Amino acid sequence: MKKCNFCGRPENQCSLLVTGINGNICDVCIEQAYRIYESSQIAAKADKPKAFKTKAVPKPVKIKEYLDEYIIGQDEAKKCLAVAVYNHYKRLQQPADDSGVEIEKSNIVMVGSTGTGKTLLARTIAKLLDVPFTIVDATVFTEAGYVGEDVESILSRLLQVADYNVEAAQRGIVFIDEIDKIARKGDNPSITRDVSGEGVQQGLLKLLEGTMVNVPPKGGRKHPDQDYIHVDTRNILFICGGAFDGIEVKIAQRMNTHTVGYNSVQNVRKIDKSDIMKYVLPQDLKSFGLIPEIIGRLPVLTYLNPLDKEALAKILIEPKNSIVKQYVKLFEMDGIQLTFSQEALDVIVDKAVEYKLGARGLRSIVESIMNDAMFELPSKRIKKFEVTADYAKQQLEKSRLQKVG
Ligand code: ADP
Repeated sequence: MKKCNFCGRPENQCSLLVTGINGNICDVCIEQAYRIYESSQIAAKADKPKAFKTKAVPKPVKIKEYLDEYIIGQDEAKKCLAVAVYNHYKRLQQPADDSGVEIEKSNIVMVGSTGTGKTLLARTIAKLLDVPFTIVDATVFTEAGYVGEDVESILSRLLQVADYNVEAAQRGIVFIDEIDKIARKGDNPSITRDVSGEGVQQGLLKLLEGTMVNVPPKGGRKHPDQDYIHVDTRNILFICGGAFDGIEVKIAQRMNTHTVGYNSVQNVRKIDKSDIMKYVLPQDLKSFGLIPEIIGRLPVLTYLNPLDKEALAKILIEPKNSIVKQYVKLFEMDGIQLTFSQEALDVIVDKAVEYKLGARGLRSIVESIMNDAMFELPSKRIKKFEVTADYAKQQLEKSRLQKVG
């Protein structure tokens, strides 16, 4: 009976046996050979980096102007980010044999509640600079040895978006979202799970600072007989973001806005969130549970304001790819001129405020208002459609969203 010349399995135990001139190969060996081929291709790409040139970096004022086109408000964060990114790239362009002054890396941490534009800021900056950019969620990481991803997998993703051009990846930007979720859990011992938290922070330390890392090309867990790609993280810019829920209380405590006691805690809660956030300092992140070493490696600390009604209203219509502009475009493709009355926009903003999801709520609200129209209108001979306040309210009442809200 014929058998596989690689593993020796007889034909009757193979679901496929391909016969060549001098031998045979079974389905399992084909698959294995393909995997070897694939990783050798990746390794070959990584070994022969294409020439990678960073674009000339615009001046901070220009960077901010660009950010203004896409992001409403958050001036403080925009300025901070513009300067940090500008300095980071100046550092990259610094000749090696300079005066001995070494400019340190300016990794960034942004504090601000959900849906205020942290990811959007990071994404927009990366687009402007035209460098590989990836977003990772800190909650997927666990310490080595536990179920979850190693922190090194951050770099696998960066390599993937850089199409395995190591040189490019080494100058990329990584946005680590939900950094607050790996905060040390304080004195709240849990027997089931303290796997994330401090251990992950320790793992991140080296990456943030700059080190050579052996990265498994396709992510996942490291295992001994795998080819690794060596990535130097010294020039990768890390931007971390987190909601840090409850940090206002820590800030208030530090600022001595209250004395000890039950009543005082209530007083602290009453402090306007938008006011207190701007006083955030590295020590507040420490009280929140980030280890001092991590904080030290995130030297640029900035905050994002919660979005008020006025900001939400602007977000709806002003940015270059605002939600309203996107829907207008969608209808335009069907030859329908879509408009929203001012009152309808007010209804949408009011709902978003009610749901407390920041700008993130806007999209789902508009989606549920427009769903019926998007379903029906393309098959009707209609040239114009106006969304009025009554129509918006009526659609919202029908929708699932109303029930959730
Ligand atoms: P975060 O990362 O802070 O939770 P995101 O940046 O993901 O929030 O924001 C969610 C969505 O809300 C974005 O895709 C964007 O459309 C919108 N958005 C949030 N903040 C702003 C802002 N300041 N200006 C314009 N759009 C915003």
